[in-house]
Order: sequence, then structure tokens, then C-alpha cells
Amino acid sequence: MTSKNTSASSLPSSLPSGLHIDTLAVRAAVPRSQYGENSEALYLTSGYVQPDAQTSAQRFLGEEEGYTYGRTGNPTVSSFEMRLAAMEGTEAAMATSSGMSAIMLMIFSLLKSGDHVIISQSMFGSTIKLIGTEFARFGVESSIVPQSDVAAWKAAVRPNTKILFAETPTNPLTDVCDIQALADIAHNAGALLAVDNCFATPVLQRPITMGADIIMHSGTKYLDGQGRVMAGALCASEKLVTEKFLPVMKNSGLILAPFNAWVLIKGLETLDIRIRAQSAKALEMAQWLEAQPQVARVYYPGLPSHEQHALAMKQMSGNGGALLSFDVKAKDSAQARERAFHVLDQLQVLSLCTNLGDTKTLLTHPASTSHGKLSDAQRSAAGIGQGMIRMAVGLEHVGDMKNDLLRGLNTL
Ligand SMILES: *Cc1c(COP(=O)(O)O)cnc(C)c1O
Repeated sequence: MTSKNTSASSLPSSLPSGLHIDTLAVRAAVPRSQYGENSEALYLTSGYVQPDAQTSAQRFLGEEEGYTYGRTGNPTVSSFEMRLAAMEGTEAAMATSSGMSAIMLMIFSLLKSGDHVIISQSMFGSTIKLIGTEFARFGVESSIVPQSDVAAWKAAVRPNTKILFAETPTNPLTDVCDIQALADIAHNAGALLAVDNCFATPVLQRPITMGADIIMHSGTKYLDGQGRVMAGALCASEKLVTEKFLPVMKNSGLILAPFNAWVLIKGLETLDIRIRAQSAKALEMAQWLEAQPQVARVYYPGLPSHEQHALAMKQMSGNGGALLSFDVKAKDSAQARERAFHVLDQLQVLSLCTNLGDTKTLLTHPASTSHGKLSDAQRSAAGIGQGMIRMAVGLEHVGDMKNDLLRGLNTL
């Protein structure tokens, strides 16, 4: 609600404790209204009528629970927050208008000029830009370290380090980092560990059980899962959410729209079965691609050839997730680009589309899109070549996916 916000601890009293993630995914929500709707209600309202002036005053002071204004809270948004927090196993969550606004909220709430944050060079490009460039203008210092090198994360710690921020696995290379090891480094330094759990989702990986303090989401991806709305969230302790995030949220306008929250509530209901089905299809595609003569290399945590396969399997419930990348074989970088473009241009079923986490399989060419503004040297340092194709595997039949890729692969 507005003053205390919601938390998993305030689940409707009709729900017993100890429920499993697939049950919480369809049941955790604010109590149903007096009309008894079975599907969670969509409350499209920007204001709330107050019962009397005294109650209104107390709500504005934060002394009594109750909604006051759409920028500070909404029951549909609360349902999404409760459901996601329950699935991540955190006490509370706060929903935001996008994944990037979740990161904005985290940095605004926890850091000030002169504080230091450590991120990995393999993180989502906008994350590196936002923290390394935009927040640098306000005096927030940052270090960028190699994703999987635990010693490098440790060596980057300074007396003013407040947050270690990791993303695992990353995109497009599917690099993994050791959440427990990073949590230990953060806590020994008196800092917090934040984990971007966008790719694994709570179905495969619950960072809170490995020592993370904050779990960040781009709800735009698998949580919605059907490519419809932008959304984000921070999952954390009740204390962090109410004492740190909520005061900034109230005045910053980063809140998730109620309609988008409602779409996400419905998305979460099928997250478990979607992630498992899409991961199984991704594994089959990764194994098949690895055996294709036109493919030089496949990046997928579920393959034994992945450098951190063992760690990934331990951290991700034995699954590789639904995202993979592969390099088309070529004699040089110009030919690699031409061949990758050829494969993408022959698609008749799968989509050439930025975004991921959709039930439709989406492919991209990272070197000319997400990593298009980098110099050749920066791109090769990041390990992203012109022949690389990223594939966010959806729910189509695997045979149809293979045939769609073969149209291009067989005519190189
Ligand atoms: C997409 C994405 C983001 C940003 O989320 P938006 O909803 O697009 O703002 C952050 N992290 C990862 C890993 C992402 O894939």
C-alpha cells in the first residue's frame, strides 16, 4: 500500500505459508474486492477517494495504510509486487516503469556523490551507460570488471564501494558469474550485492538464496513473456523497500502503469511452464547448432562446452535458460557479417527483432545493433564478432526453428 507498500509478508490471510513457486505465481495478490472477482482486478485510477479528512491526513503522513495518488501506489501494481516478491523469496518488491527505471531507482535510493559501484563489462549495454556515464556526472564512481573473474571483483573493492551489481547469465555471450562468491565479497566490504535476474528468472535461479540483497528485473522480458509491455522491479527486504526505495519512488514518477502491472500478473502465472519449455527447446537448438558444419561456435550455459557449465548448472537449477548465441563460420569479419545477415534475411517464421523473453523466437545481430556503436576493437574485446547471431528461443516447434535457420545456413 502507499505508506508501507506491500510485501510477501502481507499475502492475503487466506493463503497458508510454505506454498511453492508455481502456486504463488497464480495466487499471490492483494485481497479480491467486494465483488469477488477470481481474476485479479485492473484498477485504472490515478486518484483515490478518502473516507474522511483525518484518515487522509494520516495516509499522507504514512501513519496509516491506504492509497492516495497513482504516483505513489496502486492495488494492481501491489499485486504484481507481491507476486514477484513471493516468487523471488524476498520480503518485498517495488515495481517500476521499465528495467532501466528499476536501476535508476536503485542507484538514486542507495548512492550519493562519491560512492562507488562495481559492475561487469558483460552487463546489459544500457546498464553500463547509465551507471558508467550518466551517474558519473553526479559523482557516482564505478569500476567495470570481467564478468567471471571473482578475483577482479574483489580487487576492485574500495573503501567507498556500496554496491556490487551483477547480471548472470549475460547477453549475448551467456557469461555466468558466481553469485555466492560475489555476495561474500560485497558483505565483507559492507556493501550490497544486486543481481539482474532477467534471464534466469526466479524459476531457474533465486539469488536471495545465494546471498544477494537486491534482485532487479526487466519485466519487459520473461515476466511478461509475450512481448507486450515495458516493466521493471526491485525485490529486496521490507526495510530496503520501505526505507530506501519508497521515498524516492514517491517523488520520482518511476512507477509501473496499472495496465502493464495487470499484464505482468497474468504473465507470471505461466512463467514457470514457459521458462521450462523454452529452456528445453533452447537446449535442443544449442545441441543441434553445435553439430552444424556452418556454425563455428555456440554460446549456451546448458552445453558442456560452455566455460562455466558446472557453475551455471548449479546456480540455475540444472537448466541453461532460453537464450543462446552462435557464430557463423567465415574467413574474415566482412564475410562473417555478410553470412550472418544472409541467415537472418532468409527467415520466414522466426522474427528478426530486438527484445527477448517472448513466446515467439527472436533473433538479432548484436554487432550491428546492441553493440553497433562500439569500435571494432571494443567489440572484439567484448567477444562479439560480426558472425554472431543471438537467438531468444520461444515456443515454436523445434523442427520448424531448425528448418527456418537451414534456409540461410544451407545457402551460404
Ligand atoms: C532489457 C534488459 C534490461 C533493461 O530493461 P528495459 O525493460 O528494456 O528497460 C536490463 N537488463 C537486462 C539483462 C535486460 O535484458
